[in-house]
Amino acid sequence: MQKAMEHLDVAPHVRAILAEPRNELIVNFPVRMDNGEYKLFTGYRIQHNNMLGPYKGGLRFHPEVTLEEVKALASVMTVKCALVQVPFGGAKGGISMSPGDYSRDELERISRRFVHDLGNNIGPEYDIPAPDVGTNSQIMVWMMDTYLNTHSRKDKNAHKGVVTGKTLSSGGSRGRSKATGQGAVYCIQEWASEHNVRLEGCRYIVQGFGNVGSKTAILLEKLGAKLVGVQDHTGSIAFADGISASGLAEYVAEHRGVAGFAGAQPIDNDAFWDLDCEICIPAALEAQINSAVARRLRCKLVVEGANGPTTLGGEAVLQERGVEVIPDLMANAGGVVVSYFEWLQNKRTESWPLEKVDARLGQMMRQAYKEMRTFAIERGVDNRTAALAVAIQRINQVYLERGIFP
Ligand code: GLU
Repeated sequence: MQKAMEHLDVAPHVRAILAEPRNELIVNFPVRMDNGEYKLFTGYRIQHNNMLGPYKGGLRFHPEVTLEEVKALASVMTVKCALVQVPFGGAKGGISMSPGDYSRDELERISRRFVHDLGNNIGPEYDIPAPDVGTNSQIMVWMMDTYLNTHSRKDKNAHKGVVTGKTLSSGGSRGRSKATGQGAVYCIQEWASEHNVRLEGCRYIVQGFGNVGSKTAILLEKLGAKLVGVQDHTGSIAFADGISASGLAEYVAEHRGVAGFAGAQPIDNDAFWDLDCEICIPAALEAQINSAVARRLRCKLVVEGANGPTTLGGEAVLQERGVEVIPDLMANAGGVVVSYFEWLQNKRTESWPLEKVDARLGQMMRQAYKEMRTFAIERGVDNRTAALAVAIQRINQVYLERGIFP
């Protein structure tokens, strides 16, 4: 962000404000396990900025969740929302835990107690959680239900928008579950048309086969591109003739990982980064593409499905080597865009057809992509610097207009 601000005339106080989150909340709460014992959990919710609208961002259940990580991810949400022009600010939260270690009942009690303890620190016009790594639409529905039941109002149905990423039957939006992948694919299509690349036959590799990785892979496959390698926490697989993305998604739903999939060969985790391809899609966790990995990648384009998958060192190497990057705040913004549509539908008691969701998502993604590329070309900077600059410019403008209270 500091680097992007060098290309802008940002007021010093705005720089200082954006360097820290506005609110940092930590809750420690006990939950009864199936064996009758109680276990203490630590939950975080970081509200980075709400100048453009209510705080917005996912809740992550993963063993590597820390206060510092959540703070960084909350600031990415602020710039992501500003870049794609959804009227939200930025937040993030989570619990340091492995969701796979708990039963469905335990997960429900953990999710409900977390939301209970967040209390009035979330709300449909104040701070709106969503899914992230390790959470899903069922968890969002439990959270919404808990919020509605613990806020003693009779107009409960008016507040379903307190959480987004819900199931369709409980107030979710059509197209939300594939939204992040769909948004990434819209970006890839823009890149392909700018560089005259045919996506048919184009080879891609994907790290992480959760919601973002699997949906992106399936949508690219539909455009005729060829999935040649996948890596997740269970191992790496490759197949030069192409792995069936939809077949693999079915397999992963059952086996919880790509290891053992019969439609590809197992390879060394290390060799994954050496696979020949045109597009590399990191869709797992942060800091995967460091300078050593960046030196090995054989792709033309890195599409950041995950938040923060490239380190600063990795990015410098990619630039040196002429590998283009579509940064996280652009590439994975489709999720929060459709979260915004879900929130709007909840507010208006509407249910939009998928065609409307996809069309509006496409419009917003292409508009942001165009603004990012225009800034990058005009100023001779990389895409991340450009995307951040476009976003920060908007936030700075509002700070200057509204001033600082009192
Ligand atoms: N967790 C997703 C992200 O990092 C979605 C956030 C949202 O929909 O609020 O963008």
